[in-house]
Amino acid sequence: APASAGLADRHGRRATDLRLSVIDKCNLRCTYCMPAAGLPWLPAAQLMSPAEIVRIVGVGVGELGVTELRLTGGEPLVRGDLEEILAAVRAAHPRLPVSMTTNAIGLASRAQALAAAGLDRINVSLDSLDAETFKALARRDRLGDVLAGAEAAAAAGLSPVKINAVLMAGVNDHEAADLLAWALRRGFALRFIEQMPLDADHGWRREEMVTAAQVRDRLSQRFRLDPHPGQRAGAPAELWEVRPPAGGPVLGTVGVIASVTEPFCAACTRTRITAEGRIRSCLFSHEETDLLSLLRAGASDAQLAELWRAAMWAKPAAHGMDHPGLDSPDYVQPERSMSAIGG
Ligand code: SAM
Ligand code: SF4
Repeated sequence: APASAGLADRHGRRATDLRLSVIDKCNLRCTYCMPAAGLPWLPAAQLMSPAEIVRIVGVGVGELGVTELRLTGGEPLVRGDLEEILAAVRAAHPRLPVSMTTNAIGLASRAQALAAAGLDRINVSLDSLDAETFKALARRDRLGDVLAGAEAAAAAGLSPVKINAVLMAGVNDHEAADLLAWALRRGFALRFIEQMPLDADHGWRREEMVTAAQVRDRLSQRFRLDPHPGQRAGAPAELWEVRPPAGGPVLGTVGVIASVTEPFCAACTRTRITAEGRIRSCLFSHEETDLLSLLRAGASDAQLAELWRAAMWAKPAAHGMDHPGLDSPDYVQPERSMSAIGG
């Protein structure tokens, strides 16, 4: 890869958006992500320390053109030193946009501190407003904690609070319009994400996934959706303006992310670091490159940047799952599941 091009790849894309997993562990067991028994968690010594995270972010921003950071996991709030991580990143990069994807358990008591430490924005994952359905889906009875967490995020100024929802046929797909009505009422920006074949149980079935077209159909039964005029070309979320069914004032917006049926790989700007400090060029990569070991061996920023650049140069063109069936020769599910990769 030409050194001047940042995190370029052979298909003409350039990654500027860093998704960094701070931990693989989680306190929920969402069926589309984790097995009921959990996974063998990484030992603490294998996780990046706050100083190591700051160093890696610094290489991305300083040497490779990274312009945006999102912390994810596993569940980032499971890390007790998350405030320390954020404060250290913020001190090194006063203007870097920093966001986090979280299940919001425990956020109610930490939102203020996280905002004060430098967090700008938050995505809360919430798939159901019904306690029983939530429990069936996440295998834990924690809906109340998630709702309290989302409210606390808004109160702490982590706004606009975005809500990520995954719909599953026969489980929570009937709640699409209820989730939107709630989000509009609360001033939250809701985005539906198609379920991807990244669950640890390998239980994803194309016939059972709820497609973006089905989500739009369901929402259209209760709302009028018009394409959002500010839609960015190539942006993952297709944005819609929401109005009452008979027309009238815009009530808000809703996003639909069609990762499977209408993929946006050609416009992808992401680079990923797993919780043990490995570079993944794509969610669906079969290869990882160990950046943290090189860092721990005393490498310079330039050496770390070179390894990162080389790993991204090999980024696959597309995930290959936009074909009818998992028997497609183009799609092979990665060995690691969503929580282990860092979603
Ligand atoms: N634990 C945090 C959370 O749930 O927000 C952060 C990590 S989680 C892996 C990040 C996002 O990935 C969540 O919004 C979750 O719903 C989504 N996700 C997990 N497995 C998925 C799958 N198989 N298909 C689509 N989205 C998935
Ligand atoms: Fe945990 Fe997030 Fe995976 Fe649910 S989606 S099991 S909250 S990592």
